[in-house]
Amino acid sequence: MSEPIIEMKNVSFQYEYTQVLNNISFKVNEGDFLAILGPNGSGKSTLLKILLGLLKPQSGEIKLFGQPNETFRQREWIGYVSQKSNAFNSGFPATVEEVVKSGLTKKVGMFKRIPKDALLQVQDALKAVGMERFSKKNIGELSGGQQQRVFIARALIAKPKILVMDEPTVGIDHENVQSFYDMLYSLNKEQNITIILVTHDVDTVSNRISHVACLNQTIHFHGYKQEFDEISQEQLDKWQGHAVRKIH
Ligand code: ADP
Repeated sequence: MSEPIIEMKNVSFQYEYTQVLNNISFKVNEGDFLAILGPNGSGKSTLLKILLGLLKPQSGEIKLFGQPNETFRQREWIGYVSQKSNAFNSGFPATVEEVVKSGLTKKVGMFKRIPKDALLQVQDALKAVGMERFSKKNIGELSGGQQQRVFIARALIAKPKILVMDEPTVGIDHENVQSFYDMLYSLNKEQNITIILVTHDVDTVSNRISHVACLNQTIHFHGYKQEFDEISQEQLDKWQGHAVRKIH
């Protein structure tokens, strides 16, 4: 049996005037590939920020890798790729290799030496996302989907155990979404990286995913993808305020 590496119990959060998360309880096991679905404003980004230790909930309990959130120090185990990563224009003066290598400073610290085999690590990370042929290109010359892969490589170089992504398929052409999920699936299976992505777009939820959670202030559903597929559109509408359309 795999161990829960994320456990949230009765977590509630409010910004000054807005209650955003209400009694959130869920577990993520090592090796899960989880999509968190929710309409705009449902608290997805807030939940991610809590997971990343950037926001502190007013109540509830969080354990990461079995340790209480307050004393958890191995933050580099949780890699994050934000939605805004893939927005470089063509003039941006950094090569793919440089962007990926910059992910190492997070791990070794700004003023420590970058390890000698850094270039090898960069190549390995680029290979894992299918981008090794692009290492000398300028980041701005790549498509949105290719940039997204490079930023995943940048996160991978710090050797995370969990990869958290915010709307990763935004900016990827429809026909390339499946191969993007295939790439995530091989990271999940071959490198045993637990993957969590949030999206408001149910259409992008691929069969590569093992679990789905439906969030709208609270978790209305969390289970296997196959169980999610059994949920009716009517039920989803109740939970997600008509924002999520299922297509069979
Ligand atoms: P989602 O990612 O699902 O779109 P968010 O977590 O970004 O949702 O936002 C949830 C709610 O919290 C929204 O109503 C939003 O307006 C509000 N909110 C988000 N960030 C802040 C903030 N820094 N201060 C106050 N309210 C915020």
